[in-house]
Amino acid sequence: MELKIFILTCGDYGARIVNTIAEQGFASNIVGLHEFPEDMPEFIDDFKSQVPENLPECDLILALDLKGDINMVLPEVAQKSGAKAVIAPIHDPSQIPPGLQREIIESTPDDVLVLFPKPFCSLKPVGNPVVDEFAEEFGRPELEIQTDDLVRKVKVLRGAPCGSTWYVAENLEGFPVEEAETESGNKIHNYPCLASMNTDPSLDDTILHLAGYNIKEAVKRGLGFASRSAVVLEEDCMGDVDCDHNCRDVCPQVKTGAKTITINDSGKAIIDPASCGCCEICIRECPYGAIELIEERMDI
Ligand code: SF4
Ligand code: SF4
Repeated sequence: MELKIFILTCGDYGARIVNTIAEQGFASNIVGLHEFPEDMPEFIDDFKSQVPENLPECDLILALDLKGDINMVLPEVAQKSGAKAVIAPIHDPSQIPPGLQREIIESTPDDVLVLFPKPFCSLKPVGNPVVDEFAEEFGRPELEIQTDDLVRKVKVLRGAPCGSTWYVAENLEGFPVEEAETESGNKIHNYPCLASMNTDPSLDDTILHLAGYNIKEAVKRGLGFASRSAVVLEEDCMGDVDCDHNCRDVCPQVKTGAKTITINDSGKAIIDPASCGCCEICIRECPYGAIELIEERMDI
């Protein structure tokens, strides 16, 4: 990775990501770091006075755990540093409200891409050279898994910037393959994942759960099968007759842009076991009781 990364941070969450970048061999890519005090007020009138002095030239800005108005320094930091992308991951629903996100994007030069991945381990390549170079190494977990009846070796192809993927990979070895998916969810909680347990109103789910779905999806794809998933019973699904496809509208994975629930040519819903997080929301919301949680091996 050739990127020059400048980091704005506040508190433990940022420190963990800086450590992960360094531990994975990219310490020299970090050209500067500015730490805001943890007691920054949420509402700031004169945010321009908070823009750090002597900014280094960089390609990418990471804004880690800045809460509320202090994020309004980002447009000016991007302009002064020559950055071409800003990533401000969201791990708490109240951290950067949608209105503030819009304001930041509108105030940032047009040639600078601003992203708010929710959580950071949902970041994928987006077709922007700067973001994609970072996302080759860090973001949505991807694993290569060697197995017999047990998990033998887990290689991280792309890891969560907080470091959790490497922790899960190391601690999954030796588990029976059928238990690996559930165990990866337990391990990310043990790490522990720092995402919020508060319900995000735009998802009706917690960001902590989304992080769990991401690592479980990586394990399922690495194994080539899912051990549990919500499944639509085709004969009971009324999507072709008398249903507005509620299941798709309520699925938190779909709300983040995943194709977890799609509608086939006949109008019936289909669930992708690889990305289903088994939150059971669709099961509760299907007016025809056409979805069940199935706990058996499903090839993906
Ligand atoms: S909500 Fe139920 S009936 Fe409607 S499309 Fe989804 S699974 Fe089918
Ligand atoms: S259980 Fe249903 S709502 Fe939840 S992630 Fe799976 S498909 Fe989406």
